[in-house]
Amino acid sequence: MSEADRAPTASAVPKPLSAAQKALRKLGLSRDIDLALHLPLRYEDETRITPLKACREGQLAQIEGVVTRCEVQLRPRRQLLVTVDDGTDTCQLRFFTFYPAYQKTLAEGERVRVRGEVRGGFLGWTMVHPTFGRAGGELPEALTPVYPTSAQLPQAYLRKAVASGLRRADVSETLPAPLLDSLHAAVAQGQGPRMTLAQALRCLHQPSPDTALEALEDRSHPAWQRLKAEELLAQQLSQLTAKRERERLVAPSLRSEVGGLPEHLLARLPFALTTAQQRVSREITGDLARAVPMNRLLQGDVGSGKTVVAALAAAVAMGAGWQCALMAPTEILAAQHFAKLVQWIEPILLPTGRCVAWLTGSQKKKERQAMLALIASGQAALVVGTHAVIQAHVEFQRLGLAIIDEQHRFGVAQRLALRSKLRDGGEPHLLMMSATPIPRTLAMTYLADLDVSTIDELPPGRTPIMTKVLAEVRRPEVIERIRTQLQEGRQVYWVCPLIEESEALDLSNATATHAELSTALNPPGAPTVAVGLLHSRMGSADKQAVMTEFVQGRMGVLVSTTVIEVGVDVPNASLMVIEHAERFGLSQLHQLRGRVGRGAAASACVLLYSPNESGRLSETARQRLKAMAETTDGFDIARRDLDIRGPGEFLGARQSGAALLRFADLSTDTHLLAWAREAARTMLEHHPQAAQRHIARWLGEKTDYFKA
Ligand code: ADP
Ligand code: MG
Repeated sequence: MSEADRAPTASAVPKPLSAAQKALRKLGLSRDIDLALHLPLRYEDETRITPLKACREGQLAQIEGVVTRCEVQLRPRRQLLVTVDDGTDTCQLRFFTFYPAYQKTLAEGERVRVRGEVRGGFLGWTMVHPTFGRAGGELPEALTPVYPTSAQLPQAYLRKAVASGLRRADVSETLPAPLLDSLHAAVAQGQGPRMTLAQALRCLHQPSPDTALEALEDRSHPAWQRLKAEELLAQQLSQLTAKRERERLVAPSLRSEVGGLPEHLLARLPFALTTAQQRVSREITGDLARAVPMNRLLQGDVGSGKTVVAALAAAVAMGAGWQCALMAPTEILAAQHFAKLVQWIEPILLPTGRCVAWLTGSQKKKERQAMLALIASGQAALVVGTHAVIQAHVEFQRLGLAIIDEQHRFGVAQRLALRSKLRDGGEPHLLMMSATPIPRTLAMTYLADLDVSTIDELPPGRTPIMTKVLAEVRRPEVIERIRTQLQEGRQVYWVCPLIEESEALDLSNATATHAELSTALNPPGAPTVAVGLLHSRMGSADKQAVMTEFVQGRMGVLVSTTVIEVGVDVPNASLMVIEHAERFGLSQLHQLRGRVGRGAAASACVLLYSPNESGRLSETARQRLKAMAETTDGFDIARRDLDIRGPGEFLGARQSGAALLRFADLSTDTHLLAWAREAARTMLEHHPQAAQRHIARWLGEKTDYFKA
């Protein structure tokens, strides 16, 4: 410490954070309890010295011996070479970066203790960049924990910080006795010794060398289970709390009278609702009638007919004299919703003198002003658009229902912004739609505060989509197939991948394919086939123009980057070709495939893949393509996707980092989840203060994320 640091004023002025302290904050480790709950990834055994003669190849070993050589070598690469002799054998240490202090500690004749991975080399044992220190001194009694950390935070510093956090933190039980009993039963089926939280933490941070290392590292040890159960409980508690808080909010009670707008709409539809659509509609209507804001997710596979369910909900709201907003993540999708809804809804609105408005970011100012005026006056009963709909200056007269399509594309902040659109302290009802069904365990864990309606049935008359996985070399056959589809009057999508490193490459790929298909499908003298190109760099008017050509059937083939991914509905399209399918995620492939098979014609999806230089596909890519070929069931796909990707990516924006489970693993810890769900209810009901303490301990300031 410098003199300045010791000056009396120093304690009055908060000291600037050191780089390591900042790094701690960044990992979310600001309180003692955060440190105490920062659990090791694995352990190193520094409790014993291994004689070199007893070492095995690749073993992480700690040795002790005398330095017999210490010299800097310049070739083939500058390095410090040190030989250590422990009396049973010798080991060579190599350092490619080193400091003068190294040579001092590792000087010839010194006794040293060295830890590292031993490798049998040409010259006997070697260790590259081992850790080392003077020999002697006590061996630790516990295994040494290795914590998840970042580049700015040295392991040794973090270890000390965690140890002192653990000493200072209050780790007394938050669970009341009956819940401790049920937890004990859940963790070890009632077997084994009973552990307090403090004991479990000590066991994880500083395990004695005789602890079953395997159970610690695969996290099945009772101490791990204890912590995972507590984590799950915190999460269930905070979601349940959020749900109860929402129950206290006020929303307009929206009911439709007999002969009202929803009935008019139903009468005008060219089809009858499926049983599943009727069921979810009833669930939604039930929610809308309550004076508590709806918070419901409508999930249904691509093509299951969510839009009409949304339109019916909108009709209820509009019929009750309120406004409804419908948002889609892309302009193309918003435009398509708009086209469809105008066609369905304007006629039924006609007698009321109200209309459907349209709002996007790319709109001309004048048109936009006109729309904003319609929205503010309440004359626009329905507003369709992109997230432009929830920008601050958009004022609704009385927004009663907000519908978000493809909800996983919207962030937490956007959903919160929606909430603020209703005046007088009330909230609009919220309906979210998703074509990516969330597997049950995930929904139970992360979306416990959300009501879920599921459309589990496709409209009748669909023929199943045939999926073929083909190597790129078979491209000519695919083009031939396109030709026959076109002759039958069908339309075709061809999707090129997004190449993440380079938008330019992405584009050139799509452009090249567009040129190739234009030529291949239009031999001299034959009738011309319109081949269109759609990519993310085009202006929205151009995109719209291309889309319209395709939707209206004047364009045979649409080559595009992934901009068509969500929601686009062209029933006459019967073939989907996805180029470089190995680069897409599973849900994305499923969404894309869902663009075909929307009419009565037999449809197909061709997944073209290109092996890498070594002629192979990565294991996950192989799994994804296999899953696509094996099933068209969105729920099945979602489960497999969860297995492949894990929950983090799966939930997307909703759980933007902060609230993801760190320890519990939904594939192995379902018994703990079951306990936590039950325990959360009991605790909130009978021990509300303990519940608050538990939430604060585990989530600190992160609790807001659960509320969005
Ligand atoms: P998604 O659930 O993917 O949003 P859409 O709402 O776009 O699906 O519906 C897909 C297609 O099915 C649309 O053309 C829609 O008009 C049609 N559709 C919806 N419900 C039915 C039904 N009950 N019977 C027949 N066709 C339907
Ligand atoms: Mg849709």
